Amino acid sequence: GDVLVLQGIRKSYNVGTPVENEVLHGIDLRLGAHEFVALTGPSGSGKSTLLNVIGLLERPSAGRLFIDGHDTATLDEAALTALRGSTIGFVFQYHHLLPAFTALENVLLPSIIAHGVATAQAEARARALLQRVGLAQAMGKRPGELSGGMQQRVAIARALVLQPRLILADEPTGNLDTASADAVFALLRDFNREHGSACLIVTHDPRLAARCDRVLELVDGRLVADTPRHARGGA
Ligand code: ADP
Ligand code: ADP
Repeated sequence: GDVLVLQGIRKSYNVGTPVENEVLHGIDLRLGAHEFVALTGPSGSGKSTLLNVIGLLERPSAGRLFIDGHDTATLDEAALTALRGSTIGFVFQYHHLLPAFTALENVLLPSIIAHGVATAQAEARARALLQRVGLAQAMGKRPGELSGGMQQRVAIARALVLQPRLILADEPTGNLDTASADAVFALLRDFNREHGSACLIVTHDPRLAARCDRVLELVDGRLVADTPRHARGGA
């Protein structure tokens, strides 16, 4: 089934004040399991807002949002937090690693948040993921001892450790050089292929968008294009 369904999603800021403004004007979208989708659009078009609404960090002002079959309007804050933890993995451009903790400890955080302790299974998976992303030797290092690309790979391992059905990435390669951006993108692609996790990736990089199954374009808070890969020339 679809891991994500949006029906007429609207989001306004500063509701009830003179500067109230609607940023998302009725978004309809379905995302199937296994889909690997790029979200593009000009700065200020609402991409981050859309990702925050889908990621249950902000409530929509109107419309319906289903995550993994759950009607999110019926859930209270505790249930939303639980659904977020069990279903969604986030990757941000600025990775928000905790500086006082090692790479391994940072990757284990979602497991600690979800279960109160890092489960043995999560620890095994965290070690395997860090190895997989080329950081076997860096597990005990703190973020400040790692390069930007290495930190971003830690952040991706952290997003994947609970094997979420939906991965939301907001410009995950935005501050990386081309080689690191390709490596980070390849990690997400591999995980999508191996685990069938759906991915929605905000990117300004047309090169990376061209490697997704589907490209969405948001302009002024409206989805103006939804292009499957086979419909684009050469891809
Ligand atoms: P994008 O990610 O495409 O650059 P954003 O979602 O960040 O776009 O922003 C879309 C619009 O929403 C912008 O006009 C921005 O100023 C506005 N906006 C975003 N967050 C807030 C907020 N917390 N309060 C008020 N306006 C906001
Ligand atoms: P990127 O940040 O672009 O991903 P890499 O992580 O591949 O770059 O690092 C590029 C090279 O620089 C590697 O040989 C890496 O070991 C080294 N390097 C970068 N930053 C650091 C650092 N803070 N400490 C140790 N080595 C570093």
